[in-house]
Amino acid sequence: MTDTQSSSTITKSESIQRPRLVTTPLTEPFWDRANEGELLIQHCSNCGHRQHYPRNICTSCWADEPMWMSASGNGVVWTFTLVEKPGHPAWADEVPYVIALVELEEGPRMMTRIVDCPPETVAVGMPVSLAPMWDNQLNQMLLSFAPAVSE
Ligand SMILES: [Zn+2]
Repeated sequence: MTDTQSSSTITKSESIQRPRLVTTPLTEPFWDRANEGELLIQHCSNCGHRQHYPRNICTSCWADEPMWMSASGNGVVWTFTLVEKPGHPAWADEVPYVIALVELEEGPRMMTRIVDCPPETVAVGMPVSLAPMWDNQLNQMLLSFAPAVSE
């Protein structure tokens, strides 16, 4: 293989399309409201349990059809990892970035991205708040979090 051939096989990451978002009737309300910058979680009208991600039953008492509720968007980093090699080449230009499990003040933990800060400043227990980011390729608002602004 010549140099010309090898360089023509390298594709810039921005030309690689991100995997398409797949929604279901169960998850559509979550993604629709996310486009308005709102974080929906589920709560159970039978036992009061709150959960994320969306499911057809309450994971505490198994009651059918948990209800939607708007979450405050406040939480703390429960754990995190620094991504230096993305799982898909479409995110290659964005490394390093932080993927975290954020414990929401309503209780559930959700996997998300921590933005608007140097990755090395992210720590377990760090207060964070919702920081939605529009993704042009996905045509979808993604519910990232950023360090909480102290009051
Ligand atoms: Zn329940």
